[in-house]
Amino acid sequence: MIFITNGKIRDDGRKFDEIRPLKIEAGVLERADGSAYLEVGGNKILVAVYGPRESYIRRLLRPNTGVIRCRYNMAPFSVGDRKRPGPDRRSTEISKITAEALRPSLMLEGFPRSMVDVFIEIIEAEGGTRCAGITAASVALADAGVPMKDLVVACAAGKFNDEIVLDLSEKEDKEGQADLPVAMMPRSEEITLLQSDGDLTSDEFEKALDLAMEGCKQVNKVQVEALKSKYSKNIGELDS
Ligand code: UDP
Repeated sequence: MIFITNGKIRDDGRKFDEIRPLKIEAGVLERADGSAYLEVGGNKILVAVYGPRESYIRRLLRPNTGVIRCRYNMAPFSVGDRKRPGPDRRSTEISKITAEALRPSLMLEGFPRSMVDVFIEIIEAEGGTRCAGITAASVALADAGVPMKDLVVACAAGKFNDEIVLDLSEKEDKEGQADLPVAMMPRSEEITLLQSDGDLTSDEFEKALDLAMEGCKQVNKVQVEALKSKYSKNIGELDS
């Protein structure tokens, strides 16, 4: 259910329940097992997936299942003020929550002692990169043929100018009152990530969560189209 359509327009012209223009392409890299490129608003994100392959890190090896590892990395030129290259607290946190958001969708029991590596490169950032990274990573995992129950899709809602809004821009993220990134598996509606930054009443929280889940469902349609378009192209090539 969408709550806010009172006609007021946001700084970038969007309605309160509108996501930014979104584009996803699957299978963009030759050398990776799976990959995806995503643009949403001013974000540009590239994801490469390798595996499942034999675990080369002994301490991560599990005898009964494969494991997923994620690395979220922001390019120094991706933000207004140059970002110092290399990992920091923020990227370590986002890498961890990304792996946790994706893990419940994966069926890695058939790949004991293996690992799946997910590299998320933020080429340009404009708010909501953790959600966009998770959305793109799930498409790249599907492109790699990693068995999964469902795609994982992420979208944030938040509070800006005392209104609950969907898919915060960088300005809304930085100047807003709250940010609620959500990731879920759309078929079961199982939530795999729920973070909250800022202050929301319980009513506002409910509204923001419902709105974020609606946003996830919209984004999921674009994920599915990206995979369909890659694989229908491949089938076309086989036919010709
Ligand atoms: N950002 C930035 N410099 C940084 C980190 C973030 O300019 O070192 C910007 C970037 O546009 C990012 C936004 O701030 O998307 C919000 O960052 P946040 O930590 O809330 O994560 P995100 O919303 O990207 O998941």
